[in-house]
Amino acid sequence: MPEDLRSFLEKVRASSPEEYEAVEREIDPKFEITALTEKLEQVRRRPVLELRNVKGTDYTVVTNVFAKRSRLAFALGTDVRSAVGEYERRAANPIPCKEVGTGPVKEVVQTGEAVNLLELPQIHHHSTDSGPFVTGAMAITRDPETGALNASFNRLMIKGPRKTGIHLTLAKHHWEFYQRAERRGESLPVALVLGLHPLWALGTLHVGAADEDELAVIGGLLEEPLEVVRGETVDIPIPAHAEIVIEGEIPAGVRELEGPFSEFTGYALGERMREVVEVKAVTRRKDALFHDINVAHADHMVLSTIPMEANLLQAVRAAVPSTRAVRIPAPFTAYISIEKRVEGQSMNAILAALGAEMYLKRVVVVDHDVDVFDDFRVQWAIGTRCQPHRDLFIVPSARGSDLDPSSQPDGFTSKIGIDATAKPVLKDFADRNRIPPEVMDRVRLEDFFGSSR
Ligand code: MN
Repeated sequence: MPEDLRSFLEKVRASSPEEYEAVEREIDPKFEITALTEKLEQVRRRPVLELRNVKGTDYTVVTNVFAKRSRLAFALGTDVRSAVGEYERRAANPIPCKEVGTGPVKEVVQTGEAVNLLELPQIHHHSTDSGPFVTGAMAITRDPETGALNASFNRLMIKGPRKTGIHLTLAKHHWEFYQRAERRGESLPVALVLGLHPLWALGTLHVGAADEDELAVIGGLLEEPLEVVRGETVDIPIPAHAEIVIEGEIPAGVRELEGPFSEFTGYALGERMREVVEVKAVTRRKDALFHDINVAHADHMVLSTIPMEANLLQAVRAAVPSTRAVRIPAPFTAYISIEKRVEGQSMNAILAALGAEMYLKRVVVVDHDVDVFDDFRVQWAIGTRCQPHRDLFIVPSARGSDLDPSSQPDGFTSKIGIDATAKPVLKDFADRNRIPPEVMDRVRLEDFFGSSR
């Protein structure tokens, strides 16, 4: 059986039951789902949530699937430290998708007037949102000129029984395909896919060229071809084992108000004129799970960082071969550790990172003895190895994210590099505090406090 959302949830439940909570109590999709994950976060818990009784809908909602790095590492068959490397290795060996006759996603087929998006869970994530949003949908489109496929996550504002808004990220691949279609006066067909194995999500977010086929990257990550079926109304391959697929088209020449929506930056951004989707069909499993991504919370932030880190690691390593690790700890921010062989390499790492990822605004480079997953250690390195007049570097005017509320105008921003490596090199720098390793081996907690503690 090919891997899908259900097979993954089953594995999580079997291997770590405390990481999976099935909830029977009724929950209101208006803010209560977000409040529940936020309350769990406050007690440092991030289980998968299966919400079986969501007010106003027959669908079971699954959310918080991606909220832990260890869970995504588990999906990649590895641990937290090796996740980015394993992702990079698998993504480098794409496997084209394979067409099959049919699949579970066709158990129920609704077209035309039978389609009613208001039957889906109407999830309001934050009170600063303009309405209910579908956040877990992978959008697939085709380049109208070359036929190449593209997949990405796009937020959908539910606007009626057969209409959603869609946020096509400015200057990214779907947006470019839509520009090409619109110039010809054509609509852009789109398939919106919900309910996926985490590796499908990680493949969708792969950072690559416009003509990169994310469906093949997904196959690479799964180490088996993604099984697809034909669409009912669109010429787009549909993942056969998805939970729900919404088919439709983005009509040329149409823009409507969309937003505000509470985004990953932690801010609700203003409403704009954006594209819409006219829905033609919904196909799904009989007892389809509705996959929600809890935007701006760990569910969203953890998922989006692994593909960005893999892309950055590759780019920085091209400039500084002894690069050790990359981590995105917060929006627009990267920590990079390098084994500095000669002076100047820390600056090369900063330049490579800023060049590789438009969204980055702040890059911190540390030596290889600093664990980039430990925020205290990175701050310690900035505090003890950095002289601001010498080691800060500001780029005055560049493109950044149009979702950064501090940028003026949208996305026009300055950027900062912080070289927190020891100068000139670590081996000639002040000694770090040491405890003799043989003493660390000799002193055992159980000898002092007994084995029960
Ligand atoms: Mn793409």
